[in-house]
Amino acid sequence: MSRSTSDVLVIGGGIIGLVTAWRAAQRGLRTAVADPEPGGGAARVAAGMLAAVTELHYGEETLLGLNVASAERYPAFVAELEEATGLDVGFRTSGTLAVALDADDRAHLRELHALQRRCGLASEWLTGRECRRLEPMLAPCVRGGLRVDGDHQVDPRRLSAALVLACERAGVVFHRARADRLSVVRGRAAGAVLADGAEPAADQVVLAAGSMSGRLDGVPDGALPPVRPVKGQVLRLAVPGAYAPFLSRSVRAVVRGSHVYLVPRENGELVVGATSEEMGWDTTVTAGGVYELLRDAHELVPGITELPLTETRAGLRPGSPDNAPLLGPSALPGLHLATGHYRNGVLLTPVTGDVMAAVLTTGELPEVARAFTPARFAPVGVS
Ligand SMILES: Cc1cc2nc3c(=O)[nH]c(=O)nc-3n(C[C@H](O)[C@H](O)[C@H](O)COP(=O)(O)OP(=O)(O)OC[C@H]3O[C@@H](n4cnc5c(N)ncnc54)[C@H](O)[C@@H]3O)c2cc1C
Repeated sequence: MSRSTSDVLVIGGGIIGLVTAWRAAQRGLRTAVADPEPGGGAARVAAGMLAAVTELHYGEETLLGLNVASAERYPAFVAELEEATGLDVGFRTSGTLAVALDADDRAHLRELHALQRRCGLASEWLTGRECRRLEPMLAPCVRGGLRVDGDHQVDPRRLSAALVLACERAGVVFHRARADRLSVVRGRAAGAVLADGAEPAADQVVLAAGSMSGRLDGVPDGALPPVRPVKGQVLRLAVPGAYAPFLSRSVRAVVRGSHVYLVPRENGELVVGATSEEMGWDTTVTAGGVYELLRDAHELVPGITELPLTETRAGLRPGSPDNAPLLGPSALPGLHLATGHYRNGVLLTPVTGDVMAAVLTTGELPEVARAFTPARFAPVGVS
């Protein structure tokens, strides 16, 4: 059995655990991460839209504040990460166009536009013709759309790889093994028991295991986060040189009630996503999922049927009861949560790193994250 001690042990090395570890190490905390495959997780599947404005939903105005705060931090965050690693994370400021394919969609998009304006967000209404002028590959039936120049994108796979390297360079220790159990000593989180027999000890533990965060043995019921997996299937296509530029910005729509988006990357990849399914931890790519994505994407941009289909994958979003993350101290002393980022984890990476580093060094949740304390899910009468 090997015992090592650090100030902070992060359980889970997806983008959220990694950014937490990187920021903590930068603040001088001796930091370790336990994950059999750091840099894996949902970011391997995610499209990487940084869509604070086009992802706005009724009832999620509180989350909007955090999303916008993170979007604002993105350029400086990327510059710092790229400087620290020499890696390009594919941050692209080409904007997003959300379009309507029929009269119902248009009414829905008009309402979203009104909500965005009430929230002080920048978006511009365009006619169908104006949409097609911006993106000539759009279907002729497009009835109108919202141009949001501030909704950007990043490549989540490159982002993960850069975060792993940044952590290594900042001195973060990686335990490449699953945590089987949280260690609790005298009523306080004190480390973990790993599948390889190691038992790293730490003064503070951060649970950042994505959709698995609600399942770790040893965490008392009152401290377990109410996080569940929400499956998303995604396709990747290639845009051969002869077809470029196929799309110049991310394009999205709601087709028959399902969200579909196409995210073009500078390297010629076109990401088409995503289904949203409550299927437990199943990550099977299904014929039905692929069919629906291709059918809906084809309605939006008919020319996609010409493109090579290069990859199909499914991943799990860590969903929470209010679709917002859980950040900061749990009911168990010494145990912090950084999970439940659901469909915005890539967007929320910079602000999560800052918030968690602040909590770990000061014990206080910064103002921007107060509404996301895990205590909001505590049973009545328990603080
Ligand atoms: C289809 C799809 C599309 C998406 N698109 C976007 C998008 O466009 N924009 C956006 O902002 N977000 C998007 N997301 C959401 C985003 O990908 C997630 O919110 C984010 O990746 C969650 O990161 P995480 O680190 O919390 O969890 P995860 O990525 O799930 O990582 C958890 C890590 O914990 C590890 N782990 C689990 N259990 C243990 C254990 N017991 N011990 C040790 N390690 C453990 C796993 O190996 C994994 O590496 C999308 C997600 C999906 C699935």
